[in-house]
Amino acid sequence: MSTLPFPHRTKPSSTAVNFVAPAVVVKVGKPATTFFVNGDLLCSTSDYFKTALKQEWREGKRRVVELPDDDADSFNTYLNWLHSKTVVLGYDDGDFYELIDVYALGDKLLDSDFKDAVTDAMIVSFNDNKGGNVLPGSYNRTRLYDKTAESSTARRLIVHRLARTNNVSLIEGGDCHAFLMDVAIEAISKGPEKTNDAAARCAFHEHAPGAENCYRNKYA
Ligand SMILES: [Zn+2]
Repeated sequence: MSTLPFPHRTKPSSTAVNFVAPAVVVKVGKPATTFFVNGDLLCSTSDYFKTALKQEWREGKRRVVELPDDDADSFNTYLNWLHSKTVVLGYDDGDFYELIDVYALGDKLLDSDFKDAVTDAMIVSFNDNKGGNVLPGSYNRTRLYDKTAESSTARRLIVHRLARTNNVSLIEGGDCHAFLMDVAIEAISKGPEKTNDAAARCAFHEHAPGAENCYRNKYA
């Protein structure tokens, strides 16, 4: 039997997006930026859009969803995720600041695969191109706590990393009380595992146990 000179790239038809599906108009921010998105694609991994676009809801009948409190750059990143299953930031030098907004949008849209990919992108943002670490400062740590829930994986990630810095000067005066408490508790109870190793076993992901449930494998 001969071997094909290219990798096998087909997938079952059940995974296909129906591009005949009508577009949904999504208005993001104030003033609003308007996006026209395939309805099937929009609902493919977001429970928020699945619910909002049910026919019995006004948004479902009009095929218009408004997200006035979110920003267009973050939504554009989300649409890139839907198309390519890759976190593409709005700027080439995108950093933790932008990732916070993107994570918060994933939280609102109830898309756990996207949030899992964003926490992975946060870990990448910790590493500079010289092998060193670039950890978020107190301004971004406070922003993260303002925009995320108590049990969020993004909070767990930054607390895990900061509790292992062995550098008290990283805890700056501008940090919020909740963050300082979380770091103090983690510092007392922490084990020897490094943040990158914890991330490799999906410690900062929301999916159900099992590698087959991880976006890294589902969309590979
Ligand atoms: Zn995972």
